[in-house]
Amino acid sequence: MACIECGYLLEEERITKWAKRHGYRRLLIQAPDGIKRCLSSLIEKLEDEGLEVLLSGSHTWGGCDVVMDEAETLGADAIVHIGHHGPVRFKPPPNILFIAAHSRVEIANVVEEAALRLAREGVRSVGLLTTVQHAHLLERAEAILRDCGLEVELPRSPDPYMWRGLITGCDIRAAESIKEEVDAFLVVCGGTFHATGVALATGSEVIVADPYAGKVVSVEREARRAMAVRLSQLSKAFEAREAVVLVSTKPGQRVGVDVLRNVKELLEGRGIRCRVLVVNDVERSVLEDYGPADLYVNTACPRLAIDDYELFPGPVINLGEIHYLLKGDLSSYTPKDAFMQRLPSHIKPP
Ligand code: SF4
Repeated sequence: MACIECGYLLEEERITKWAKRHGYRRLLIQAPDGIKRCLSSLIEKLEDEGLEVLLSGSHTWGGCDVVMDEAETLGADAIVHIGHHGPVRFKPPPNILFIAAHSRVEIANVVEEAALRLAREGVRSVGLLTTVQHAHLLERAEAILRDCGLEVELPRSPDPYMWRGLITGCDIRAAESIKEEVDAFLVVCGGTFHATGVALATGSEVIVADPYAGKVVSVEREARRAMAVRLSQLSKAFEAREAVVLVSTKPGQRVGVDVLRNVKELLEGRGIRCRVLVVNDVERSVLEDYGPADLYVNTACPRLAIDDYELFPGPVINLGEIHYLLKGDLSSYTPKDAFMQRLPSHIKPP
């Protein structure tokens, strides 16, 4: 079933069968803000099938962000997580069903326009990538690119939950795996967020085919701006004497106590005092309430520091960037380190 108004495939029959097969009666549904408004008819249909349905009002940023605490508090038997492909960086219990919410928007026109543009530029081989909403149309996109005379690679992240050609905001390892083999990347998705990640992490030419806007655009300017922001934030971090280390409670974003201890030891070895702040969503008002700090070390979603750095009242760095702070040198800065949600393996506490 697709929501007529929004055009997402919400797979109501699959949800019903899954719930009945497992004997789940009370379901907690969660979805990104843009999809929540499309759920009333799905909820009605599930209720008609005798299921009790609760909708989480929380933001749902990614497959890392599953409302297991809410389900436990409310006594829900199971969670239906809509809008993402699967779990990100955590092992899900069996009572979570991921519904991708594929979009019914047509992609052929923008993909063809992108293919012709790439061919005109002399590009011969393309890495084809997409987000979960268009993943079901990737073979179609591949055929269009080949018809335009391009060689196509459909890479895959090492995460077994990820599909061929799929990227998320923080998992662009599929692109990294073939960056030496292709002349450019084509990302089929709405907006420039995902494609900017690919450009930052690979340094390659990246074109977006946006089927919602009906546009084909390069993200070169966005990637350059993001790189400049990272360098500026890191150079300000060199002056820090007091840091707040942010830890998220979201299952795929939280880090272990051992990581926090390592971070504290490393920073204190450089003369930076640390306090740890635990949050669910990172909000500026919460950070401001906690009082001033001249550095934020973000162990939650790495894209916060890259795209939403203005949420932080001071400079922010990610876990994978700590070694630049320790060295006090940015000459070898590699933006793909910003996507790492762990300390690089060569960094050891003193
Ligand atoms: S950590 Fe951030 S970018 Fe990665 S899946 Fe979660 S919300 Fe998306």
